[in-house]
Amino acid sequence: MSRWTLERTLKPHEYIGMVRREVLDAFLRERASENGAKVINGLFLKMDIPTRGNENVKTPYVLHYTEYDGKKGGTGEKKTLEVDAVIGADGANSRVAKSIDAGDYEYAIAFQERIKIPNDKMVYYEDLAEMYVGDDVSPDFYGWVFPKCDHVAVGTGTVTHKGDIKKFQAATRNRARDKILGGKIIRVEAHPIPEHPRPRRVLGRVALVGDAAGYVTKCSGEGIYFAAKSGRMCAEAIVEGSENGKKMVDESDLRKYLEKWDKTYWPTYKVLDVLQKVFYRSNPAREAFVEMCADEYVQKMTFDSYLYKKVAPGNPLEDLKLAVNTIGSLVRASALRREMEKLSV
Ligand SMILES: Cc1cc2nc3c(=O)[nH]c(=O)nc-3n(C[C@H](O)[C@H](O)[C@H](O)COP(=O)(O)OP(=O)(O)OC[C@H]3O[C@@H](n4cnc5c(N)ncnc54)[C@H](O)[C@@H]3O)c2cc1C
Repeated sequence: MSRWTLERTLKPHEYIGMVRREVLDAFLRERASENGAKVINGLFLKMDIPTRGNENVKTPYVLHYTEYDGKKGGTGEKKTLEVDAVIGADGANSRVAKSIDAGDYEYAIAFQERIKIPNDKMVYYEDLAEMYVGDDVSPDFYGWVFPKCDHVAVGTGTVTHKGDIKKFQAATRNRARDKILGGKIIRVEAHPIPEHPRPRRVLGRVALVGDAAGYVTKCSGEGIYFAAKSGRMCAEAIVEGSENGKKMVDESDLRKYLEKWDKTYWPTYKVLDVLQKVFYRSNPAREAFVEMCADEYVQKMTFDSYLYKKVAPGNPLEDLKLAVNTIGSLVRASALRREMEKLSV
């Protein structure tokens, strides 16, 4: 089994950030509040959508939600709120998406255990994240150990064999066993991860962003950046379309966000989709993938694409060399024939 550390091409100021969502989410909420947003601790239930006739006169959307006052055990209070526009940022099981009949997506299940490991073992993960590939950890994705400041997250995901997720998780834990020995599980998390955008992402004055829209990249399973970025792009489209709140927006204003999003990120999604199809489907193909990662040019292209979120423009000569090396790797791992057969089905 091959193993590579991918950091050779990183410049001193470049890094891959790891976050604890409970810390990041609280930070974002507080920052929004400090900048004038009214934060409500509530559970959105449904919304009344203006009828077509009413839409022309820009009747408000009515949101129904349960507000919680923060007291423990509180059952909450049913309330309504009238709004001009709605940005559905409510994740993979989005009720806003259901309200506008946005359609479904194929999804993966991701499973993760947050494990507090002894301090001397944590030193190893201080500046390092691990990814494992192989049929044991996932038939179509990867297993990981990501550092989370004072503990690690050990997890895996799959689209094709969701019922076996616990078996894959045990294998991932097993791969890391010496390094997490003596660890204590402090939290278990499992959640769907969208595989592609929903058929509909905008209707009237309602737009979906983040996982609600289906913006997780294949191959890496990255969704946090894209959730934040799509939220920002959508908000900017509303600010611009409403001329800073002076006039009501309409669907065409929200569609500008979609156009910008698709233009900016469609190539990244497509490239990662193809990479996943070629390299994540069998152990020989994964071996080829790991072998290729030894190449400095591959590392540079991978990190540039990851860090700057665009399909990095390459050097034609190096691209040619990469193509030849890729084919060499695949042939060596006897994966090419089988993968081509799968792709042509
Ligand atoms: C185990 C696991 C590991 C992952 N690891 C990574 C990783 O390493 N890097 C990465 O980039 N991505 C990762 N992802 C994907 C990433 O978590 C998501 O893509 C990202 O969180 C999407 O952000 P979001 O704000 O759109 O949705 P979410 O983070 O799901 O946030 C949705 C929010 O809406 C709230 N909400 C939902 N329904 C309602 C309702 N009815 N009323 C009110 N509020 C509601 C939720 O409470 C939540 O706060 C991982 C996912 C999983 C499951």
